[in-house]
Amino acid sequence: MSQILDGKRVRDEILADLKPRIARLGRKPGLAVVLVGNDPASEVYVSSKVRTCAELGMHIEEITRPASITTDELLAIVAGLNARPEIDGILVQMPLPKHIDTQRVLDSIAPEKDVDGFHPTNVGNLSIGRPGPKPCTPSGVMELLRRYEIPVAGKHAVVVGRSDIVGKPMAMLLLHAHATVTICHSRTADLAAECRRADILVGAIGRPAMLAREHMKPGAVMIDVGINRLDAREAVVKIFGEESEKTAAFDKRGSVLVGDMNPLDAAELSSYWTPVPGGVGPLTIAMLMVNTVESAERRQP
Ligand code: NDP
Repeated sequence: MSQILDGKRVRDEILADLKPRIARLGRKPGLAVVLVGNDPASEVYVSSKVRTCAELGMHIEEITRPASITTDELLAIVAGLNARPEIDGILVQMPLPKHIDTQRVLDSIAPEKDVDGFHPTNVGNLSIGRPGPKPCTPSGVMELLRRYEIPVAGKHAVVVGRSDIVGKPMAMLLLHAHATVTICHSRTADLAAECRRADILVGAIGRPAMLAREHMKPGAVMIDVGINRLDAREAVVKIFGEESEKTAAFDKRGSVLVGDMNPLDAAELSSYWTPVPGGVGPLTIAMLMVNTVESAERRQP
């Protein structure tokens, strides 16, 4: 019998655990979020980050600028935030407009305030196991495994996806937790065979329901990081069938979210699995809050 890993429940636990830590600090941890342009998805992400900060009683600053901003102007904003002692975390919402030098902007964030964990210094810290902010989505997955007491040490973990923000740090965190880790990507020769070796299978691909029955070892833990919006009815029916709740939801709303794993196969074959939405998704913002509070704790004189 497969069990759902409830990301909303774990998110609530993580946030509740932060409250006494915030109270102990004696000041409000401060997060600055820089939003450039008006990408609707980015606006949604930023507003839920702002809301979560406010609910926790943290100090939040939202800095919005038009898409016409230059790299130098953005660098000046980050430099100003780096210099302000009451700001513990700086997050520049991705993606930035094409004319902006994204790497220069990310590199300009002071590593101790880099709550996304994307700065090369923090990538290095993660790699050699030193303390520092870790990318939020993969550290959320680790928290999910930890709070459900799912053993990782000695298990074979297969991560599909090698991006700098999800796949690679996910693999590194699993390695630090003593899993034997395989990283797969678009050039992997026999993806299904690699995935079938997984005791813990992580999908971070960005391809709707791509990992299916032939990729799944019965009894494995299946972690679906993917968030894909389907807006074609036939694609929804192909995955979920005509008489499903998802298809009914599609008929009502015109789109639905689906992960990188076929959820029917994952629910049938796994020991534990994460639904989309409601699995990994809610943990990303919770871990951003953790990173901000930890940054404030580390920066406390
Ligand atoms: P990227 O596009 O940066 O990376 C996708 C990875 O998947 C690449 O490494 C790519 O391989 C690999 N890949 C693509 N196609 C295949 C294939 N056919 N077979 C095997 N591997 C393949 O995506 P992200 O890492 O940024 O995001 C992955 C997913 O996670 C997305 O759905 C995204 O929306 C979601 N996401 C969810 C978050 C959350 O809060 N839950 C946060 C961040 C992302 P290659 O390197 O060879 O091109």
